[in-house]
Amino acid sequence: MKIKFWGVRGSIPCPGPNTQKYGGNTACIEVRFNNNDRYIIIDAGSGIREFGNYLVSHDIKKGPINTDILITHTHWDHIMGFPFFAPIYIPNTKLKIYGPVSFENDTLKDIIGGQLTYRYFPVRHAELSAKIEYIDIKEGQFDLGDGIKLSTTYLNHPVLCLGYRLEFQNKVFCTAYDTEPFKNLFSTDPNDPYYDEIMAQEGEKAARDENNRVDKFLEGSDLLVYDAQYTQEEYEAAKIGWGHTSIEYAIKFSKLSGVKRLALFHHDPMRTDAHLDELTAKYCNPRNTINTEVFFAREGMEIEI
Ligand SMILES: [Zn+2]
Ligand SMILES: [Zn+2]
Repeated sequence: MKIKFWGVRGSIPCPGPNTQKYGGNTACIEVRFNNNDRYIIIDAGSGIREFGNYLVSHDIKKGPINTDILITHTHWDHIMGFPFFAPIYIPNTKLKIYGPVSFENDTLKDIIGGQLTYRYFPVRHAELSAKIEYIDIKEGQFDLGDGIKLSTTYLNHPVLCLGYRLEFQNKVFCTAYDTEPFKNLFSTDPNDPYYDEIMAQEGEKAARDENNRVDKFLEGSDLLVYDAQYTQEEYEAAKIGWGHTSIEYAIKFSKLSGVKRLALFHHDPMRTDAHLDELTAKYCNPRNTINTEVFFAREGMEIEI
């Protein structure tokens, strides 16, 4: 598998002189298989615009575009690039878009395709030239053909969000963003009037079980792309419950789970290149991350596993 990052930011694009090195586009990852013939796209953040342009100037010369897009969840930073993905305006393009939906009455087509209405955009979904199929998915295992196996698991985020595990020719590539470690939802403070010893214990167990489930899902990844929006200090100061993980947790977890390479991902839009360089010096020293290579994902970066 060959993995390329087209967008590594969370929340909102942040282009400018301070983000040129790591990039300012939101989530989009390309995964190539079988000597480049087959590829899958993970997320349609603003980075998918540039990838679409690349496909139009390269792949389309070999034939119409026919691919799968896996959406981790429908937050705006993961779908906002879709109306600007050039292949949707080209006849004979075929897309299958997979993703989870939280609300029974809204389909994936309503949520993603709903950006293409005159309210938000000058072209309506019905006017697109591509043939697009939307597939609501939940936790499970899927055969994507050509020997590509896909598994999904639920992460911990304010909206239904999937972690993806792609297996191909004995290699494993996983994504786990946007997510934060599961926590006990019940009070553990005996002085709290709502404290209940049994509930507190049950809550601890439930959180532990959920975290173990996610850990098991990601175990042994050759490459893991993991949420690392905050430092532990930032997280504890004001970001608990926002659905993101700290860099420290991501590294600790990856070392324990035998992850070979960890790409820290979903950088906060406030992080400048200089700040990300500082964090790289602090957290990615190979002497401290034995057996797990740790780095901050950068737009344009390519990795082969
Ligand atoms: Zn996000
Ligand atoms: Zn999100």
